[in-house]
Amino acid sequence: MNPDIEDILISEEEIASAVNRLGEQLTTEYAGKNPLVVCILKGSVLFLSDLVRAMDCPLELDFMDLSSYGGGMESSGQVRILKDLDTDVSGRDVLIVEDIVDTGNTLSKIFNLFEQRNAASVKVVTFLNKPERRTADVKVDYVGVEIPDKFVVGYGMDFDEQYRGLPYIGILKPSVYSHLFN
Ligand code: 5GP
Repeated sequence: MNPDIEDILISEEEIASAVNRLGEQLTTEYAGKNPLVVCILKGSVLFLSDLVRAMDCPLELDFMDLSSYGGGMESSGQVRILKDLDTDVSGRDVLIVEDIVDTGNTLSKIFNLFEQRNAASVKVVTFLNKPERRTADVKVDYVGVEIPDKFVVGYGMDFDEQYRGLPYIGILKPSVYSHLFN
């Protein structure tokens, strides 16, 4: 295990089984619809690549980059588009792929944007959900795993751009970030 990780919250095996379950549900949801699957960079990349391989239906991919967290652990509350989609979403069935929904700020911004752009439907799949932290009113259609209010890393998710490559979801040792609060 990585020496900066205090505990493994979700193992590789648990990740695989949650992703396969979501893949089956989404295969049913999107049969015959050719959805536009929108990956929110960068944290969702690993989840996206596993998820689309578990979806047995035609689909297209696009990517969007937004900023809400800086290098730290708290959302700034402001969400900016750093990279927009290349695809026109009007008339499309859009599936937003998130790594984690925390306050819901990021998601509510993207959701409203796609509705304004006249998507035929907008649904959300997130690998992790932290319902205790929610401040924005957003609907999450598909959830991999619900977790408590802990800051997690791994499986695409970072702290200060590190730990994205860990194959599990882990909780950081406080010694890794305590300097930020002193
Ligand atoms: P929200 O706008 O819902 O507060 O935050 C969404 C984004 O914040 C996520 O896509 C993710 O990038 C980041 N985030 C929220 N909670 C965590 C966490 O526990 N760990 C990491 N690494 N990022 C998080």
